[in-house]
Amino acid sequence: MALLSTIVPCYNEEENILPYYEEFMKNRSFFEKNGLSYELIYVDDGSKDGTLQAIKKLIATDPNVHVLSFSRNFGKEAAMYAGMQMARGDYVCIMDCDLQDPPSLLPELYGYLQQDYDMAATRRATRKGEPPLRSWFAHRFYNLINKYSETEIVDGARDYRLMKRQVVDAILSLTEYNRFSKGIFSWVGFRVKWVDYDNVERAHGKTKWSFWGLFSYAMDGIVAFSSAPLKAASILGFLFCLLAFAMIIFTIVRRLIFGDPTSGWPSLVCIILLVSGVQMLCLGAIGQYLEKTYLEVKNRPIYIIKEKI
Ligand code: UDP
Ligand code: MG
Repeated sequence: MALLSTIVPCYNEEENILPYYEEFMKNRSFFEKNGLSYELIYVDDGSKDGTLQAIKKLIATDPNVHVLSFSRNFGKEAAMYAGMQMARGDYVCIMDCDLQDPPSLLPELYGYLQQDYDMAATRRATRKGEPPLRSWFAHRFYNLINKYSETEIVDGARDYRLMKRQVVDAILSLTEYNRFSKGIFSWVGFRVKWVDYDNVERAHGKTKWSFWGLFSYAMDGIVAFSSAPLKAASILGFLFCLLAFAMIIFTIVRRLIFGDPTSGWPSLVCIILLVSGVQMLCLGAIGQYLEKTYLEVKNRPIYIIKEKI
């Protein structure tokens, strides 16, 4: 009998635990028909509400439900990683518990894995219901990162996906601390089937992503999967050196011909401001990489478990 592990990261999702479980269990006849057993791994990412209690109530009724509870909030990336480490399944699925990732898609995803695909991943067909400014920034981000990174990051791709064991092992072999899953899923390769579906609104509660949260996540993605900003900094530096060189020649020639050293003062101030601005920008780009390197070198664990059932 093949085992299907489903990983469900939860952070303050008290009201969603039971509705999600009920929706997931509608797949019961599909499991039976395909000779699949299942395990449901909730990863409680340091929730402050009754999430863990709600999960424990489920565990009391269904021995296939497990929970991994973090000592604090480590973020969804850490939760997915921990869940994958715990999952024993031949097939592993990652799903949000706010019902934005419909469990009813599971049979379809499973079907693709039987047809020679190694991973079936979902993608939002539209960004309906999202603030326009956020959509605009999201599109800019995907354009930018796909232009400068060798790893393809698919626009609208969700973390909701079903994978074969081999893919999960490959993902687990990437032990970096700064995890950007959208990049990691794509970096490991394998044959991927993309499944489009319409955006579904959250069942209960509200999203954990603020605009700035998303912005800094996008920055992390760029730093993790592209070194273009570092190259841009060097190129910019080189261009400004050329410009400065031309200016020196121009100034000397003008001094020799017209003999007026002070008339260029305002333009000089502009140039100093511009060049120092660019220097700060480049230093900032380098700082971003340095910070990430620093975190990797410290080699801290990606998560800390408080409780495991
Ligand atoms: N989540 C988590 N840790 C966090 C933030 C979110 O485990 O620090 C979980 C959350 O409970 C949900 C999923 O990740 O199941 C997606 O979060 P959310 O719905 O807020 O994101 P969105 O769907 O808006 O992208
Ligand atoms: Mg959601």
